[in-house]
Amino acid sequence: MISLDRLKRKSCDIAVIGAGPAGISAALNGTLRKKNVVLIDKAGAMDRLKKACCISNYPGFPGISGLELERAFLDHLKEFDIKVVVKDVYKILKVKNRFVIYTKGAVKDVFEAKSVILCTGVVDEKKIEGEEELVGRGVSYCVTCDGLVYQGKDVVVISDFKGGEEEAKVLAEDYHCTVTYVPGYDVGTIPGVNILNETPVEVKADADNKDKVVVRFKRSSIAADGIFIIRKNISPKSMLPGIETEKGYIAVGAGMETSIKGAFAAGDCTGPPFQIARAVGQGQVAALSAVEYLKEVSN
Ligand SMILES: Cc1cc2nc3c(=O)[nH]c(=O)nc-3n(C[C@H](O)[C@H](O)[C@H](O)COP(=O)(O)OP(=O)(O)OC[C@H]3O[C@@H](n4cnc5c(N)ncnc54)[C@H](O)[C@@H]3O)c2cc1C
Repeated sequence: MISLDRLKRKSCDIAVIGAGPAGISAALNGTLRKKNVVLIDKAGAMDRLKKACCISNYPGFPGISGLELERAFLDHLKEFDIKVVVKDVYKILKVKNRFVIYTKGAVKDVFEAKSVILCTGVVDEKKIEGEEELVGRGVSYCVTCDGLVYQGKDVVVISDFKGGEEEAKVLAEDYHCTVTYVPGYDVGTIPGVNILNETPVEVKADADNKDKVVVRFKRSSIAADGIFIIRKNISPKSMLPGIETEKGYIAVGAGMETSIKGAFAAGDCTGPPFQIARAVGQGQVAALSAVEYLKEVSN
């Protein structure tokens, strides 16, 4: 099992999650207002924008490519000595008036922040029928958070990428679970893990046993004590439990504040139109609102 001394904890005023145009703008503005900012991105930076071959509507840079704009944005970060921490954030929990930010990886860094700004872009996530109703009642998105709950029990792990294999192994080896892995891609064998090549169509409570949940496939179904759904991209609700969304996007007010005090959001994760200029503007508003919030809580 993961020991706590393998977790490195770092504190800051504002943690910005996602270093696309929104996150970079938020980090710059927070830093300019003399706040200690940590900028975290799982892919380095600008994962989406670097795919654009020619951008015609970003003022001052007609016809610039995504890669060129990325370079300009990163150079701007360098001017203010802001480094991007390359980490995949999978969970943020509000504990009293602090946010605890958990990341994946060999060293599972944990960050502590007085406020957070979510700038994670759009999530292309197709849910399994019934999944949302069972979150916390048999469905989990996180082995680190919930592995202990299912120690020694029967679990199903559903994943559309290789990261799911690691989680299946952790459940089998560290938590002594009986694991059935349902991959959405080709996989060989995984020691100690049963592989089931089926497409899940529904997850539901077991009508015959209130402690069990069922995964239904096209032609069969299996009952288990828990179901872990491990996706590459996680939805805002899975990342920051309790946050309100509208049509899958984070619901925000005019100051980019979310339903959770101290948590702000900016850019594509708040909904369309998906545009660089809008993301940059919202990132700035979110940072300035976070600065105001920090003043309030320090008084
Ligand atoms: C091919 C293409 C062409 C485009 N052309 C234009 C154009 O011409 N003009 C225009 O205005 N817009 C264009 N866009 C849209 C534009 O790229 C987006 O609107 C803009 O990038 C949104 O910025 P953002 O910061 O909100 O999100 P993103 O740019 O999507 O950045 C989100 C960042 O968050 C990171 N992240 C996500 N989840 C996590 C996590 N769990 N932990 C850590 N990091 C995480 C990602 O790695 C990513 O770097 C184009 C998009 C594409 C794909």
